[in-house]
Amino acid sequence: MSSTLSTDILIAGGGIAGLWLNARLRRLGYSTLLVEHEALGGGQSLKSQGIIHGGTKYALGGSLTGSSEAIADMPRRWREALAGHGELDLAGVHLLCEAHYLWSPGTLAGNLTGFFASKAMRGRVDQVKGEALPAALQDERFRGKVYRLAELVLDVPSLIRRLQVLAGDSLLAGKQVEPLHDAQGELCGLQVDGRPIEARRVVLCAGAGNAGLLARCGLAEPAQQLRALHMVLVKSASLRPLYAHCLGAGTKPRLTITTHPADDGQWVWYLGGHLAEAEGVARDEAAQIKAAQRELAELLPWIDLRDAQWRTLRIDRAEPAQSGLVRPDNAFLTRQGRLLVGWPTKLALAPDLSDRVLASLRAEGIEPSPSHAPRPALPQPALGLAPWQELF
Ligand SMILES: Cc1cc2nc3c(=O)[nH]c(=O)nc-3n(C[C@H](O)[C@H](O)[C@H](O)COP(=O)(O)OP(=O)(O)OC[C@H]3O[C@@H](n4cnc5c(N)ncnc54)[C@H](O)[C@@H]3O)c2cc1C
Repeated sequence: MSSTLSTDILIAGGGIAGLWLNARLRRLGYSTLLVEHEALGGGQSLKSQGIIHGGTKYALGGSLTGSSEAIADMPRRWREALAGHGELDLAGVHLLCEAHYLWSPGTLAGNLTGFFASKAMRGRVDQVKGEALPAALQDERFRGKVYRLAELVLDVPSLIRRLQVLAGDSLLAGKQVEPLHDAQGELCGLQVDGRPIEARRVVLCAGAGNAGLLARCGLAEPAQQLRALHMVLVKSASLRPLYAHCLGAGTKPRLTITTHPADDGQWVWYLGGHLAEAEGVARDEAAQIKAAQRELAELLPWIDLRDAQWRTLRIDRAEPAQSGLVRPDNAFLTRQGRLLVGWPTKLALAPDLSDRVLASLRAEGIEPSPSHAPRPALPQPALGLAPWQELF
């Protein structure tokens, strides 16, 4: 059997939640180990659209709720990190777009126009016209209103690569991850491919994998919900970058379009929003592609997609259970003894989840150990691929 390892904090899951937390704890002087059973970012994170929401989309009901206030600070924190002077040094991570746009193909309901002009939204939403419109919307046939949101869109593969670098020697690949108990039967770490790892605290950040890990620990709570999505990808030499939520009749996006670079330099549009939700999930791949083609032909008829290649991707969003499968608005963290369990619920909220872990550690008096024992070379997890890299 491999020798026992010990660490201050042991993290399960190498998506954005685990990697961000790991980098932040290391920077504060904690010794950490992060175990990943497949590939870094390969769960939801690399399949996300990379939008660093500031809450505007969630505030569309017409008021800023407490939860939309909680997310409002995320773009600033990410911007500082991207500039190299935030809580993490993310210099070198690619920004795909400085802003995400909100686009209403009809007339925007009067109460929304008033809301956008309100004091609460000033500086967060600005209307754009003419040459200030995103290039893909600059056509004489374009109708509707476009608002620029103070939200970023990130190239997630470069983010995961940077967090891998910041992880230094703390990463460990392991297929079989089981709880480790002390003589009193208390959780004291994890057993990874048979190797015991003792830790002062264990943090489960394994996305959809949290449910299985909790079950192995004999815990039924916290419960997890999975929200299925059926995303569409379209690749064509004629595509120009577009980062926008297109509003439907209600306040929920009918279509959310982000644009990502394929390995051959062409752009790939990644389509989510209402298209990818319930009715989209019920469609098979061919019907879902047809539905996406209808939406684009109706909304952007000037885009020539005759030579386009189409793919779809099914993926579940893993979150703490809410009544009626509604979306949670905040990062979620709970603690049971030495075990902490979290879901960021959004890529954008990874800093918020790490705040909650730090607050919990500090409340319990868990400070970084003064010295860290040297580590043997450990098996390393591979980097995952984004769907625009993998599917074409
Ligand atoms: C299609 C889509 C689009 C999205 N777009 C956005 C967006 O634009 N903006 C935004 O803010 N959010 C977005 N999200 C949400 C966001 O992607 C997720 O909230 C976030 O990535 C979750 O990160 P995570 O680290 O918790 O989970 P994951 O990224 O799923 O990572 C979990 C990791 O744990 C590993 N793991 C699982 N089980 C085990 C185990 N037993 N042992 C060890 N490791 C294990 C997995 O292999 C995986 O690498 C989107 C989600 C989807 C699905």
